[in-house]
Amino acid sequence: ATPLAILVAISNATKNGIIIKNGQILELLPKSKHFYFDKTGTLTIGKPEIIKIIPFGISEEDVLKYAASVERLSSHVLAKAVTSAYTGEFINIVKSKELPGKGVEASDGTNLYYVGNLNLMKEKNIHIDSTVLEIFEKYAKEGYLTIFVAKNDDILGLILLSDKIKQSASSVIKFLLAQKKKITVITGDNYFSAAKIVKTLGLNVNLITDITPLDKAKIIKHSKEMKELPAMIGDGINDAPALKEADISIAMGKGTDIAIESSDAVLLNSDIKLLIYFHKLSQKTMNIIK
Ligand code: ADP
Ligand code: MG
Repeated sequence: ATPLAILVAISNATKNGIIIKNGQILELLPKSKHFYFDKTGTLTIGKPEIIKIIPFGISEEDVLKYAASVERLSSHVLAKAVTSAYTGEFINIVKSKELPGKGVEASDGTNLYYVGNLNLMKEKNIHIDSTVLEIFEKYAKEGYLTIFVAKNDDILGLILLSDKIKQSASSVIKFLLAQKKKITVITGDNYFSAAKIVKTLGLNVNLITDITPLDKAKIIKHSKEMKELPAMIGDGINDAPALKEADISIAMGKGTDIAIESSDAVLLNSDIKLLIYFHKLSQKTMNIIK
């Protein structure tokens, strides 16, 4: 039978905005040695806004038109930012495919379109000249999210977006470090932009970038093999495999359904500060049971 203390803790957690789907994580959370955080939507607010569009040979409006027509079918936060910024008519897309951690590929019946990150462009053998790369690096280093828009073999433009770090992210990291936890941010985003975000969280935070959703799961699996009892905190489709793999999995309430389904607990309103309460609550509960 479930100990009464666990039931009480689950009820208290609910009142405070944490939905616990698997009571066992109260037992595991204090024992976890390594916390893995997704970046976009987990440490950042996940509501990026377009700051600038840099077209190559076409108009800014057309870059946005192609991007929005392709992104319309994606649930990614970047996709939502792009589509909501566009009010014109879409081009007719007959087929599209989301490539988690990379972007979207689509076809209008004649042409292929790619909207996503540098890794996607490389994978599709799209030629990127050095001036485009320089522009990308410059903005990425400033912390901007960057989307490449390509048609067939050509880059049509770059879309730069900014996403703010959650106000309480630093205090959560500080708390966990004080509890002697190892912390790693794992993200599909590029090194330049992720490093800028992670630097603001303070030192002693590890960073792994440019990885696919399956890489995220592999990292968690390795951590399990190292007996670190990994906790994964994420929000996206791209985090679902890692959340499923982790001993402890926590999803953001505003995250995608699949992330929520794959997790042991959910933080309502995506409020990351709740992790501090959650950790204290599970420690207290285990002390009672012991
Ligand atoms: P994170 O791990 O930070 O949550 P994701 O794995 O969701 O990020 O995405 C990693 C990167 O892949 C994004 O930063 C973006 O460059 C690119 N990407 C993924 N999906 C899309 C999309 N629908 N449109 C544009 N870019 C995308
Ligand atoms: Mg995310």
